[in-house]
Amino acid sequence: MNFNQFNLDSRLLASIRRAGYLTPTPIQEQAIPAALAGRDLIGTAQTGTGKTAAFVLPILQRLLDGPRRRARALIITPTRELAEQIHGVICDLGTGTGLRSATIYGGVGITPQTEALRRGTEILVACPGRLLDHLGQGNARLDEIEILVLDEGDRMLDMGFLPDVRRILKHVPAQRQTMLFSATFPVEIEQLARQSLRNPERIAIGLSRPVHTVEHALYPVSKHLKTKLLLRLLEQTRTDSVLIFTRTRHRAHSLAKKIERAGYKVTSLHSDRTQGQRQTALNGFKSGKFQIMVATDIAARGLDVDSISHVINYDMPDTADAYIHRIGRTGRAERTGDAFTLVTPDDHDMLRELEKIMKQRLPLLTLEDFDYDAPAPVVEPTRIQPRRGMRPNRSFEPRRPATAHMRHK
Ligand code: AMP
Repeated sequence: MNFNQFNLDSRLLASIRRAGYLTPTPIQEQAIPAALAGRDLIGTAQTGTGKTAAFVLPILQRLLDGPRRRARALIITPTRELAEQIHGVICDLGTGTGLRSATIYGGVGITPQTEALRRGTEILVACPGRLLDHLGQGNARLDEIEILVLDEGDRMLDMGFLPDVRRILKHVPAQRQTMLFSATFPVEIEQLARQSLRNPERIAIGLSRPVHTVEHALYPVSKHLKTKLLLRLLEQTRTDSVLIFTRTRHRAHSLAKKIERAGYKVTSLHSDRTQGQRQTALNGFKSGKFQIMVATDIAARGLDVDSISHVINYDMPDTADAYIHRIGRTGRAERTGDAFTLVTPDDHDMLRELEKIMKQRLPLLTLEDFDYDAPAPVVEPTRIQPRRGMRPNRSFEPRRPATAHMRHK
């Protein structure tokens, strides 16, 4: 299968070549022909599968014909970072078509967005809240939308955006093509699909299973030794870019400081930072200025950064789904990556659920020269972990040596 078979415009084929895509990914193979035929789609695909191009290419192809300077395609996505990322893919793949794309999201000035809307743009990539503001102020009109994409449906649900999405749907013509993408399908998303799509074709790629190019490893450790172990892992592992996840923005901030003190170039991405700071962090991470980025789930949702060699879960994610989304940041497309997770005795239940969903036991590794029995600082007696929580527990026994898939310097 190659891209020529889709009968795409030669300008699109040229930008596909420029982007370095040789063959369509499985979701592109299935979604592109259906979308080009005008079908509604439900795509079960996580990021890292090539899903953005799977909906962007059919949109660009369709918009080549017909009126310009009017909003004809609307992509709704939960976070600003994702909006920028999708906009970037549109700009790359749409080079030479003369089509325009604008991003609409909160946390930045409204005027430049209003001006872009007034000038006329064919594609809008929007987060729900700010788009509603523009609709309320009469800056945006959606009555000529032909294609609607609802991206990361489950995350929009988690973030409480579904009521806003429903409000937006009222402004969009009923006669349209709709594509809904979601990694999981809770009842609310199924309901939204029933209400907003017509006879959709369902395409499922890697449903709640991580991309195969990622190797997983669990590192059991007491809570109070997490940072020490992390620093040791960073020291002993040959890495390109490393993305580290923490549970809260406060932990992201303080961990980044500790890593910095250990001599690394590190930045952080979380919702306490302004949009400008986030963009600087992201650009610095993408360019390699910062080798390490510490992030929370929401901030890092769907990030598309090439060459992330390692995702490290400093804190175990709250759900198996979150784990899959996090590790989707590495091993993207045909690259390989490692996913390390620090596991404390408190994480047992989550670990069991994760292994059930992934249908595999994940290897437990220990570092040979690490003092797992170092006591917790006495100044914080409440944090001391019982030592027996560590290795004597059967399921915390390492199943293969630490060197098995770590690339030591
Ligand atoms: P996405 O799932 O849309 O976030 O895409 C994940 C990554 O795969 C991005 O870095 C894309 O540039 C890349 N990608 C998308 N389609 C292809 C393709 N057909 N061949 C190679 N890489 C691709």
